[in-house]
Amino acid sequence: MQVFAILPAAGLGTRMAGPQPKQFLSLGGIPILIHSLRAFAAVERVTAICVAVRKPEMERVQAQVAEYGFGDRVRVVEGGDHRQDSVAHALNAIAADPDDIVLVHDAVRPLIDAATIERTIDAVIEHGAAIVGLPAVDTIKQVERTAHGALITSTIPREFIVLAQTPQGFRYGILKSAFAEATADGFIGTDEASVVERAGHPVAVVPGSQVNLKITQPGDLELAEFYLQQHQR
Ligand code: C5P
Repeated sequence: MQVFAILPAAGLGTRMAGPQPKQFLSLGGIPILIHSLRAFAAVERVTAICVAVRKPEMERVQAQVAEYGFGDRVRVVEGGDHRQDSVAHALNAIAADPDDIVLVHDAVRPLIDAATIERTIDAVIEHGAAIVGLPAVDTIKQVERTAHGALITSTIPREFIVLAQTPQGFRYGILKSAFAEATADGFIGTDEASVVERAGHPVAVVPGSQVNLKITQPGDLELAEFYLQQHQR
């Protein structure tokens, strides 16, 4: 059984409003994408890693992969307009058997740790599909959008809520057929689990952490720098 990691890194990072996409910004002197790659490269069970980036960035990322010494273990492919397209391109590029495991991880979650990756792999072996999820600490409201903001329609008990993080792992056969179904139906999800859930497959949840944050908005990078320093102490 092989374990593949897919890192979609083809987002344009419009919410960050900076000169370049967030996955290429520096965190502690190293590009965010390289932190994410290192985390997966540190897990022995991960056989190969596939990164999806925009076409104009392929050469630069390939050079970085060589510079940081990943060698043949990391492959760069072209991403697409939606995250789901980027993951689909990478899925097509890996030579996996149905029972092999595919972990998909946001390139912009650079502080993922090896233990969480290992736990996700173990949960996929047991359940066929598993994601990292963070229990909700805030009270969760369902709302209806209005011209002036929003009106609450209900309160969802937070014991029933987890916030989906990554990695999200699946047996290759399960993910591939769920993606084929989604493509046929024109469904576009914001994560892989939503694609697999709608195909009717149960997805387990392993505990996540606030440190595994997704660098999305201004301020997130400063928080990640803080966590990185704490970790290095
Ligand atoms: O846009 P979102 O916050 O969902 O991005 C999550 C991850 O998906 C990021 O690492 C981003 O680079 C990637 N992505 C991608 N292709 C896209 C859009 C996002 O690989 N078209």
